[in-house]
Amino acid sequence: MTTETDIQTFLQRTERFAREVLAPQVPAWERERRIGREVFEQVADIGLTRVELPVAWGGLGLPFSAKVRMSEILAAVDFGFTMSVINTGNVANKLAREAAPDVARRYVADIIHGRRFGSVALTEPGAGSDFSAITTTATRGADGWRIDGAKAWITNTAISDVIVMYAQTEAGSGARGIAGFLIDGQRKGFIREPAFAMAGQHTLGTGGFRLDGYIARDDEMLQPPGKAFKAALASINGARTYIAAMSCGMVGEALRIASDYGERRHSFGVPLAEHQGWRWRLAEAGSELAACRMMVNQAAGLLDAGQDAMLIAAQAKLLATRMADRQLPLLMQAMGAEGLREEYPFGRHLIGARLANFVDGSTEMLLERISAVMRRS
Ligand SMILES: Cc1cc2nc3c(=O)[nH]c(=O)nc-3n(C[C@H](O)[C@H](O)[C@H](O)COP(=O)(O)OP(=O)(O)OC[C@H]3O[C@@H](n4cnc5c(N)ncnc54)[C@H](O)[C@@H]3O)c2cc1C
Repeated sequence: MTTETDIQTFLQRTERFAREVLAPQVPAWERERRIGREVFEQVADIGLTRVELPVAWGGLGLPFSAKVRMSEILAAVDFGFTMSVINTGNVANKLAREAAPDVARRYVADIIHGRRFGSVALTEPGAGSDFSAITTTATRGADGWRIDGAKAWITNTAISDVIVMYAQTEAGSGARGIAGFLIDGQRKGFIREPAFAMAGQHTLGTGGFRLDGYIARDDEMLQPPGKAFKAALASINGARTYIAAMSCGMVGEALRIASDYGERRHSFGVPLAEHQGWRWRLAEAGSELAACRMMVNQAAGLLDAGQDAMLIAAQAKLLATRMADRQLPLLMQAMGAEGLREEYPFGRHLIGARLANFVDGSTEMLLERISAVMRRS
């Protein structure tokens, strides 16, 4: 039984790690275009990749809302690093809950101790928003499932080798034929592509991989056709909630830095914050942030209680990502040229906010989801 004290202790450790370990190193990782894998031992010690994992599997067994709060704290420093940590944790959690116990036992401990990294791979070079159009094939053979195809835009693939992946078992059958598999990147037939060079946020190690005659054993099929499509989307309300929280984290940190700067920097003989035109900008950002946080809390509360959060999670992500897209450039502007310096997170956060518009449902797909729920009610 976890208590609020357990959650607070975990969040305080997360805060300390974000401030003392992450913040000083992230600018260099971005410059070097890589995931900061050297801190994953500390990540493991604090438990950042095993927040929700049941205690019996070595997890902290905390409620989903604790992971949401952790996401906001980490993303205040770096969106990409947070995505990397969360995706690895999601794989451990999925395996413990959905894989055959023997299969899960082979991987979960290595993942949560920072020895192996995880990805969840739906997207392909030719299929993003339309998940049912994936063309990676899984063909039944004597020794298991032969898998051929390619995945693209997958978080962590620069280093991950425990991958929950979806493939089509029956060409032309769309969502119905999709099955979920565990892919071990250390096996024959797995070919890692170089990580993508992007506009920024290389700390999430986005890239792709190919499977060429890869054999997944029978017990490595995580969900059979008919169940996998739904299972893949089952966790999306949670993902939308933590992405919304991460957007709040980036804006909250930008607001904190700008507020502090406004008291120290003078123009026309007074601190910047004395100028009405300057401080109103921060008042707008703070008000939007407060509203988005309320939506995040509502979605997380519903998910903790096992209730339907489809509408509020989609709305929270829609509005929080829009807020980050709009407010981050304005808060950066409030810093003058100083905000361009690498030691501040503004530049990285601008790209983080852009990426947040695509991961776990693009803005357009969210609007589709929201209108579908509204038309039903
Ligand atoms: C940094 C990053 C990390 C990612 N990590 C992962 C990961 O770990 N695993 C994974 O599987 N995927 C991942 N993705 C992929 C992400 O899920 C896709 O980018 C997303 O699903 C959109 O697909 P797409 O980029 O191919 O856009 P497309 O599907 O090609 O769409 C292009 C544009 O058209 C819009 N559009 C498409 N269809 C419609 C429609 N019917 N109506 C209106 N507008 C439409 C889209 O919203 C988008 O703006 C990641 C992406 C990024 C950027």
